[in-house]
Amino acid sequence: MRWCRLPAAILAAAVAMADPSAGAQDDWRRCPGNGWQVTGAAAGEYALVCQGVAEAAAVLASCGVPTVAATRVRLIDELPVHCGVKVWGLYDSASDEILLGDPAICLAEAPEGSLFDRIAPPLAFVAIAAHEATHAMLFAGGLGADRHLEHEYIAAVVQMSVLPEAARAAFLEPLNIGASVAISQLNPIIYGLHPDLFAGLAWRHFEGEPDGCAFLRAMAEGTLRIEDFLPF
Ligand SMILES: [Zn+2]
Repeated sequence: MRWCRLPAAILAAAVAMADPSAGAQDDWRRCPGNGWQVTGAAAGEYALVCQGVAEAAAVLASCGVPTVAATRVRLIDELPVHCGVKVWGLYDSASDEILLGDPAICLAEAPEGSLFDRIAPPLAFVAIAAHEATHAMLFAGGLGADRHLEHEYIAAVVQMSVLPEAARAAFLEPLNIGASVAISQLNPIIYGLHPDLFAGLAWRHFEGEPDGCAFLRAMAEGTLRIEDFLPF
């Protein structure tokens, strides 16, 4: 999910206009073991979405963050647009629905050095599904849109966690992140200009914390705000 100043209601309207066919004819399939539903996906894509959702829940649970959400995921054959910017996927809290570009369009439109340019599309797709599922789970747990940096930190950690080690290294390599990351680097400017860098920084910061899960959990519970650590 990316964040801008558009109210959620406007975003919801834009999504509805972009997909007038949304409604009764959608063929929703349930993921095994939870109430998540997927539409617009080929069989292999459906499995990848469900894998991303399940792995996101497992990562959050491993850090003691409860995951009660059961949301819908819609695959489309173009990249979703949020605030005028093409994105791999987005979670719309107003409609409680995730939109994901399918793996083929993500690969076709991948900027150089981006997630889909650096690693195998199925792995990248699972990571993005996990990222957006995390937003849905955090919203359901009460973490609102005013905590967007915390949302993105946690979603980034989950996104990176579900990647195999070699894929994670391939994603991080061109970002040239140092061994240690200060919280002040996790700021809205970095996120706005370079979301991939923000994701890499969040992951490296999480890894460098004495208890990364405690830090993550405090953000999920709303007791820790990144902006309280920022110099501006
Ligand atoms: Zn996000």
